[in-house]
Amino acid sequence: VKNEMKMEFLASSMNEGFARITVGAFVAELNPTVDELADIKTAVSEAVTNCIIHGYEQKEGSIWIQCSTDEQQVEISVVDTGKGIRDVEQAREPLFTTKPELERSGMGFAFMEAFMDEVEVVSQPGQGTCVTMRK
Ligand code: ATP
Ligand code: MG
Repeated sequence: VKNEMKMEFLASSMNEGFARITVGAFVAELNPTVDELADIKTAVSEAVTNCIIHGYEQKEGSIWIQCSTDEQQVEISVVDTGKGIRDVEQAREPLFTTKPELERSGMGFAFMEAFMDEVEVVSQPGQGTCVTMRK
């Protein structure tokens, strides 16, 4: 059985918990283990936080999440139309951050990769970023 949902919300830290819980509730229908569910929610949080802090640099913007499931797999895309990433390969390296002054540790992508089976990052400077994760 295939299932799909799409959501759009303001890029505000107020909505991080909302996004995390909503995706969690959607994928919970697949009866994941407690660990799998926690992994997915953490990965979504990291991606959403990146849109807010890096994509829009705390200015106003929208975030879109698309989530589709079938018996085998869940696929989640988190999209912003913010500043984009110049060098995706470098951005994905553990400990790399462009915001050390905000005490970021540069571990977001590393966590997404650890908690999900596949992470794909498509980004265009000045256009935005799409992070697609599968598990
Ligand atoms: P942490 O996640 O540990 O708080 P971080 O956010 O800097 O620190 P990552 O999540 O791994 O670390 O992201 C690495 C870098 O990739 C960021 O510092 C930023 O430069 C860039 N980046 C990530 N997501 C986006 C995005 N949605 N838009 C623009 N730049 C991004
Ligand atoms: Mg991050």
